[in-house]
Amino acid sequence: MAINKENYEKIIAELDSKATLVAVSKTKPVEDIQALYDLGQRDFGENYVQELVDKEALLPKDIRWHFIGHLQSNKVKYIAPFVHLIHGVDSDNLLKEINKQAIKNNRTIDCLLQVHIATEETKFGFSEKELHQLQGLNELSNVSIKGLMGMASFSSDMNLVRSEFKKLKVLYEKVNAQFSILNSQFSILSMGMSGDYKIAIEEGSNMVRIGSLLFGERNYSK
Ligand SMILES: *Cc1c(COP(=O)(O)O)cnc(C)c1O
Repeated sequence: MAINKENYEKIIAELDSKATLVAVSKTKPVEDIQALYDLGQRDFGENYVQELVDKEALLPKDIRWHFIGHLQSNKVKYIAPFVHLIHGVDSDNLLKEINKQAIKNNRTIDCLLQVHIATEETKFGFSEKELHQLQGLNELSNVSIKGLMGMASFSSDMNLVRSEFKKLKVLYEKVNAQFSILNSQFSILSMGMSGDYKIAIEEGSNMVRIGSLLFGERNYSK
């Protein structure tokens, strides 16, 4: 078995149902996902549309699929029929497209707004200012904004990582107050990965996205 059962059980115990574990299975085979499923895991995260579509077709239907990558508008239609939660929404136009595809599929799609918290330039997401300026969310009949998602800097400086998570938590509370009139379902703060999930939990995360601790390091070269 290629999955790390020991880590899985340790993390489940640590989270102690205070945070949802999204098992990030990108680049990993369906056999590994099935193995974790057999241990009871139901929330899985993928970054690439085609890979997600292929895996969804082969795996049990009660898996909750999270899309955590950067989503291009023209690909929303492929995951709209089944996706459970889209974490990385980073533009108004993407939201509108998700709404359109949700209507076509006669369902509501849950989304998180991605916020740019890292000091690095490369991470996608809304800035705080853009977030406050978001207009017309209440016109989107078939999208439900459930919360925020963020990624800390890829850094060994844990003080930096902690300060970024703190910033996101403060913003989450602010936006929560602002959106609660439109949407009483605002309840998810998705932050924390294999290297920093403990800090994220300490700083108020209630959803962590963990890959390599569960499935081993990823090899992108094959
Ligand atoms: C790959 C990925 C993860 C998981 O990363 P690990 O370090 O393997 O836990 C979490 N979130 C996002 C957005 C990712 O792309």
